[in-house]
Amino acid sequence: MHRKLVVGNWKMNGSIAQLGELPAIAEAAREAAGVDVAICPPFTLIAPAVTRGGGLPIGGQDCHAADSGAHTGCISAAMLKEAGARLVIIGHSERRAEQQESDAAVRAKAAAALSEGLQTIVCVGESEAEREAGRAVAVVTAQLAGSLPDPEAEAELVIAYEPIWAIGTGKVATPDDVAEMHAAIRAHLVDTFGDQGARLRILYGGSVKADNAAELFAVRDVDGALVGGASLTAAQFVPIIEAAG
Ligand code: PEP
Repeated sequence: MHRKLVVGNWKMNGSIAQLGELPAIAEAAREAAGVDVAICPPFTLIAPAVTRGGGLPIGGQDCHAADSGAHTGCISAAMLKEAGARLVIIGHSERRAEQQESDAAVRAKAAAALSEGLQTIVCVGESEAEREAGRAVAVVTAQLAGSLPDPEAEAELVIAYEPIWAIGTGKVATPDDVAEMHAAIRAHLVDTFGDQGARLRILYGGSVKADNAAELFAVRDVDGALVGGASLTAAQFVPIIEAAG
């Protein structure tokens, strides 16, 4: 059994005013013994979220693989850390699609984040067409093989399985599909990294809400959730934290 981890991904949403949601989320996190909770707001809100978040771990949604240099518009892992971030999401399907991030790019970014001491959540997941073609496990396994850095690092590597067709759509993978995929991911991790692979946490993401969280958390090898839309308010996010407890 792994300690559950529930991470909110605010994507390109939020404002200084919305940081007012954080203290109630932090309070729920303190009360849910055995659950780790974090929020990843847009870059510009990281430092104020650290100040106003009531001790909640705050993270970024991407970082560059390089430490510094001529990369206009980018942020390095060291910059995230200096802003107070303790974690980072890497290789989200929206970035893989919109910024054409390859598995190799994801691996390089994740390695940079880990070496900076950031807890690093690497996202993988298949498209609807790939699932319908019966290729979901093969696609995700190939993404893992290409995207994961060596987990033997100071910081924790976490995997998030996020079927693309379930993100922001209200469609949720069935517990059986989630169980099959998380078992395949666990098998890949153990084959690749041995005992270390057995220790890594695997999150599910894709339309997790208060009314489906408990069922998903009960699935074997679901060690928590990456939550988008339902992490934007304490009213929606706190019941998910409670379901993980
Ligand atoms: C996500 O952003 O990673 C996500 C899973 O979004 P949602 O919960 O809104 O589907």
